[in-house]
Amino acid sequence: MKILLVDDSRAIAMVMRARLESFGYEVKHAINGEIALDFFQAESFDLILMDIEMPGMNGFEVTTRIRAKEGMEPWAWTPIIFVTATDTDTNLVTAIEAGGDDFISKTVPENVLQAKMKAMSRIAALRSRLCVANGKLQDQANRDGLTGLLNRRAMDMQLDFAWEQARHSGKPFSLLMIDVDNFKKYNDHYGHQAGDDCLIAVAACLSERIQQINDDRTAPGAFVARYGGEEFAVVIPDAPPGVHAGVAAGLVEAVAGLGIPHEKNCDFGVVTISVGAAAFPHAMGAVKALFRLADDLLYKAKDAGRNRAEVA
Ligand code: GH3
Ligand code: MG
Ligand code: MG
Ligand code: MG
Repeated sequence: MKILLVDDSRAIAMVMRARLESFGYEVKHAINGEIALDFFQAESFDLILMDIEMPGMNGFEVTTRIRAKEGMEPWAWTPIIFVTATDTDTNLVTAIEAGGDDFISKTVPENVLQAKMKAMSRIAALRSRLCVANGKLQDQANRDGLTGLLNRRAMDMQLDFAWEQARHSGKPFSLLMIDVDNFKKYNDHYGHQAGDDCLIAVAACLSERIQQINDDRTAPGAFVARYGGEEFAVVIPDAPPGVHAGVAAGLVEAVAGLGIPHEKNCDFGVVTISVGAAAFPHAMGAVKALFRLADDLLYKAKDAGRNRAEVA
């Protein structure tokens, strides 16, 4: 358990730190309220032991500010115990009102201190389990259940963010719309389960390619999402002009290269994709225009015979 100890007295803090460390806890000392807030901002603690009487900001004020900085999630609540020389009833009430959780005397007996710390470390463990569970839930909410790619919702959010950044920096921006060719026929011929497996394989292939262009710095920050049904989208923020054309051609080739048999896909014999690859030299205006352009190009690629990319 990591404890933030806030006390304006070095001597008292030294004694308290020694006691806590002897129980096996990690302790960081803040000599006043401002420093405590800085520490709290920079790293996370499992427990805060807060002095009340301090020059400048007192412990109640620091606590109020800490609570204001914390998020709304239950695990964002860092337990705060006030440690004071004057444990009056009024102080207790003010402490709880300010957002504190408990109250102990500076002269608290060793076994009581140890017992309270034990209770707090249980809460700390619970908080970290909640935090992990929430991380998993959030990841699930952002992923498409079938392919594991980012879903439409997550893509829209990331795209808006990337677009705004590009707009401010005046950097180029590309969007690739990808659609599996004659996929209805694939389902009809091979069955829906095979269709699902096919989408999984195509998604993995796209994802691997995009990972590659991230890794080799061709287009760092590029990402792929399942846009819906048998449609995927690739976002490439800030790539030099022309990169999107190479990426699009590479994806078309890679999917055909999987060699997934598809008897009903024109004369290709295998599963293929068509791509509309739009790029703006400078991100400006609404992102909708980029989508429209990519969509138009995708239809052009379909019209021109599929298994190809149309690029602008
Ligand atoms: P085109 O080359 O013009 O794109 O033809 P298409 O048949 O691929 O286009 P269309 O939009 O008519 O068909 C898309 C098909 O994708 C229809 C739908 O049943 C199928 N599909 C969408 N989502 C899934 C899925 O999650 N699993 C499976 N197996 N099929 C899906
Ligand atoms: Mg003090
Ligand atoms: Mg489609
Ligand atoms: Mg299709």
